Order: sequence, then C-alpha cells, then structure tokens
Amino acid sequence: MSVRDLVKPHIRDLAPYKPGKPMEELERELGISNSIKLASNENPLGPSPKAVAAIREAADQIHRYPDGASFKLRSKLAARLGVGEDQLVFGTGCDEVLELIAKTFVGPGDEVVFPWPSFAMYPIVVTGMGGTSVRVPLKADLDHDLDAMAEAVTDRTRVVMVCNPNNPTGVSFGAEAFARFVSRLPDDVVLAIDEAYFEFVRRTDFPDATKLLATRPATIVLRTFSKIYGIAGVRIGYGITSPEVASYLERARHPFNVNLLAEAAAVAALDDEEHLRRTLELNTTGGDYLREELGKLGIETWPTDSNFVLARAGADVYEALLHQGVIIRPMSGFGLDDCVRISIGLPEENERLIKAITELRAATDAEGDAA
Ligand SMILES: *Cc1c(COP(=O)(O)O)cnc(C)c1O
Repeated sequence: MSVRDLVKPHIRDLAPYKPGKPMEELERELGISNSIKLASNENPLGPSPKAVAAIREAADQIHRYPDGASFKLRSKLAARLGVGEDQLVFGTGCDEVLELIAKTFVGPGDEVVFPWPSFAMYPIVVTGMGGTSVRVPLKADLDHDLDAMAEAVTDRTRVVMVCNPNNPTGVSFGAEAFARFVSRLPDDVVLAIDEAYFEFVRRTDFPDATKLLATRPATIVLRTFSKIYGIAGVRIGYGITSPEVASYLERARHPFNVNLLAEAAAVAALDDEEHLRRTLELNTTGGDYLREELGKLGIETWPTDSNFVLARAGADVYEALLHQGVIIRPMSGFGLDDCVRISIGLPEENERLIKAITELRAATDAEGDAA
C-alpha cells in the first residue's frame, strides 16, 4: 500500500492555496533587489508602530504559554463592538476561524454554499473536512447573486458563506439586499459573513451584520487584523457570533492557537487611531488614482470597498510585470482569466505600477504596428 492510498480521499484531492509571490523569491529568481509587492492586500504603511512596540515589550515573556482566552484582547474588543465577551472567537488569522467553522459544522455529505469567484480558502476548508462546495457564480457585474445563493440552499446545506466586500472583486452589497437575502435563508443553516475588509468600506448603506445576532444565533461575522491593522505576519483574526455558536467553536479550537505576540500586537493596533486614519486616507486616494489611471489606459476596473482593485488588464500582464519587479495577483483559476488583482500601495508604488503597465502597452502597440 502506498502513502497515497493511506491519505483520506478529500485531503488527497485538495489543491493547495496559492499565496501572492513573496518578494524575496522573485528577487532571487531575477537577481534584482527593488521589487514591489501589490499582491496580498497587506498594509503598505507597514504595521502600527504601537503594535511593533507591544511585540518588543512582550518578547521577554515568550517562555510562557499565551493566555488561552486572549482576555485582554477579548475585553477590549467586546467593549469596542458592543458585544459580550462570550461572543468572540479568536484564530490564527480569520483563516483559522473559517476552518473552525468547517470543523464544527461540516462533514462528508454536507454542503457549503458560497459565491464564486471569492476567497480561495472557502473550498479548501470545506474540502478539508470532507464537505461539498456549492459555488454560486457572481452576476455579470460581479455583484453577489444573493437570490441564486438562497435558492442553492438544500436540506444538506450546513453553512452559507458570503464575502462582503468580496475578494477578489472588491464589490460589496448593501443593507437592503442583505436583509432580503437573510429573510429567504432558513434559520437552521449557519450564515458566515466574511468582512475581512470591513474597515475599508466606503458605501454608507453597508449592512451591520452583527445586529443580526440578536435574532439569528447561527450567524458568524469574520474580521481580521491582517488587512487595515497591518499585522498579517503574526496571524490573528476573529469571529463575532452568538454565545451558543461560540461555545461550540471553542471546543474545536486549540487552547493556545493565538500566540502571545499576536495578542499583544492586536491590543495595541486597536488603539492606534493615527495609523488607521493614515491607512484609510492612503487607501482612498490610492484606489482613486489607480482606477483613474487604469481607465485612461482603457482598462476596465470595478468600484472597490476594499484595499485592492480588480482590473481587466489582460492575462499576460502578471508575468510581464514580474519581469519589471512588480508583483500583483493573477486571477486565472478564479474564472476571471483576463483580470488581475492589484493591492493599493504607497503613492510611489502605485505610480511605478501604472508606469510599468503604460510601457508594456506601448511595447505591445509597437509590436502590433511592426507586424
Ligand atoms: C485576507 C482574507 C482573509 C483572511 O485573513 P487572515 O490573514 O487569515 O486573517 C479572510 N477572508 C478574506 C476575504 C480575505 O481577503
């Protein structure tokens, strides 16, 4: 018997997550040193300086296990969100909270409904637990098809996931559409609302999904410290849910999943209003700049409520930009083959990207003229 035969079938069939290309890897491959990465929706300003200081201060305690309840962070965040301390579940990134949801509610034969294209981890956590992914295509304008999602629910459905604003499109839905969707959803399926980009949202009618918890306990809202808070490297995210659902997710959670440095960093980052304000400002002006300049080049983009821009820039742009030391995210494999996802960077990074695409276009046009 080979090792392959020993592996559980759903693990064998799993396609590993493809992260954005690390800068070190590209620089090694090309022998260059000044690459930029606009590929993983990281904070271009870097981490909150307060979070970095908190990690330095906590460093001499790392011979201790972390506080398994993350009490300091829990009490601060619960007060901030206006929810009970027993309504929060922390994970090593919101990725782990997604996995805890699958571990708690999904097994072989169970279905999980989610939009597609959307966050690549959804099918991975579902398949990892032996469940079946039911992908509901986005509408032509790349908005969620919430009616089709409600219709996709069967008596085998355990979890319905939405991603608002959606990754990789940046598109969001408003309170009215959300209320209509919820009214069509049976109460006995878990509704997971991934709000990884919540803090970047511009639209004023964005739904307050946490309000739903008062009437619909099988609801989980997911947020993260990886995006606006800029501490993706220490891995911490959380779910906001009912005390009952939290009590079950807690059973599935490893006792010391959130490490000591991550908790200290998150507590400090929550209070760094200056860093948050600067990040938001940079993101708004950078997003507007990218959309405007791409538009001038005749490249279609979508309105964004996140820290990235989806652009129909052509399938070969990703590879071509790599050779210029610019890393963005290709969307092949997501059913958006001619699109790329560009994380909004510092002004000079955004300018370098636009300049690189402009030059590529000019080179292609010249080739076309010569042919
Ligand atoms: C980035 C992201 C996450 C996960 O973030 P973590 O780093 O694991 O906290 C979850 N959902 C979406 C849609 C994301 O883009």
